[in-house]
Amino acid sequence: MINYDLVIIGGGPAGLTAALYAGRSRLNTLLIEKMSVGGKILTSETIENYPGFPGGVSTTELMARMEAQVKELEVKITAEEAVELDCVSRIVNTGSESYQAGAVIIASGSAPRKLDVPGEKELTGRGVSYCATCDAPFFKDKRVVIVGGGNAVAEEALYLCRFAGSVNIVHRRQDLRASKILQERMLANEKIKFILNSVVTGIKGANKVSAVAIKDLVSGKEEDFACDGVFIYIGHEPATGFLKGKLQMDESGYILADEHMVTSAPGIFACGDCRKKGFYQVINACGDGAVAADSAYKFISGATHGKK
Ligand code: NAP
Repeated sequence: MINYDLVIIGGGPAGLTAALYAGRSRLNTLLIEKMSVGGKILTSETIENYPGFPGGVSTTELMARMEAQVKELEVKITAEEAVELDCVSRIVNTGSESYQAGAVIIASGSAPRKLDVPGEKELTGRGVSYCATCDAPFFKDKRVVIVGGGNAVAEEALYLCRFAGSVNIVHRRQDLRASKILQERMLANEKIKFILNSVVTGIKGANKVSAVAIKDLVSGKEEDFACDGVFIYIGHEPATGFLKGKLQMDESGYILADEHMVTSAPGIFACGDCRKKGFYQVINACGDGAVAADSAYKFISGATHGKK
């Protein structure tokens, strides 16, 4: 068993910001990240609404800067997956190691939601993708479908246009959820076509994607639409499965935490996209992370937040 003042689970914007503030408070801190530090924002190429970067900034650069800033402090980062958290003893188990902490910050984020249609699982990596930034270059001059109607679809459709021959957005309603500025850009791009009031009911292909079945929700008609790739951007699900039954959550698994990031368990804090809130952005994930570190510091030092 290894002891730390603070263990942070997750190395996206929320976890890295919590680590920054914890390091500056001189808490002996461990950050656990199962993949590469940076989080799912790295599945977008650029971010245009992070303050201070007119014209936008590459997500790789932004997250590398956040990581470098944390590394200037004595925060330890380990590449492991937290598989269990005892919310009473505050012991985090990664399978290979156990860490006991004065406080724990959960910043485990969320993962892309699956469409859950026939062919999706079998053809993932063979034309089905959840990351345009990673896979778009494979679709040079090809015909791709992108599913969803939010900001992620808009940004990734515009990015895909740099490579693909045509980008066909399939959305289940008439109106998009994406911000107006992104909708304007999509409408101005002649490579982008909209298939509205429609859903993808299946993905077809022997070894790689060759078509999707699309159902028109108004007429009820279903037809195959030939394509080489399918990008799915229909929101996210919180990465909180390992905490089920241990903390109060909503019905979708988002952790309930107050404005101090205090959860239902003393000394356990939650921040970023794994927390139930109304607006999921990098900027407020960072804000959450700063607050969580402050609350954890106060809890450890016996000051207030965290219902010690
Ligand atoms: P989102 O905003 O939740 O949008 C998900 C889209 O997928 C919605 O259009 C939804 O349709 C559709 N959808 C959900 N389940 C579906 C299903 N089973 N079948 C078909 N369609 C389905 O998710 P997101 O675009 O991934 O963004 C996640 C969060 O990150 C949001 O808060 C977003 O604002 C934020 N974000 C912000 C930026 C930015 O500000 N630049 C960029 C990317 C993401 P309905 O509209 O009918 O519900």
